Amino acid sequence: MTSKWKSLLMIVLLPAGIVLVGPSQKVEHYSCHKCRGLKDVTVNAFFGITGKRRDVFQLPTQLMEGHVHDWWRYSVYRQNGLFGSLSKRVACKPTQFQDGQKSAEH
Ligand SMILES: [Zn+2]
Repeated sequence: MTSKWKSLLMIVLLPAGIVLVGPSQKVEHYSCHKCRGLKDVTVNAFFGITGKRRDVFQLPTQLMEGHVHDWWRYSVYRQNGLFGSLSKRVACKPTQFQDGQKSAEH
């Protein structure tokens, strides 16, 4: 292989490697046992630099006034690499809510 082809290969492979290895994502799942509310926090990072953070809430329609959420993390999902190409890890607690009860009956 000539050095010209090698450098050309590097030009192609390097950005591909950066795109493949760089991104990572962490999704944290929280629950509030007082109101049965749920919260998902997604944090994207690129080479350890934290990017935008997205909070998604699933709250009961009727919240008591002045309610302060007691967020409890019951599950964490981490992935490294593009679409988890390098590693994926999930850590879960046995119950979704801190008091071990299931979500409120509707
Ligand atoms: Zn709450």
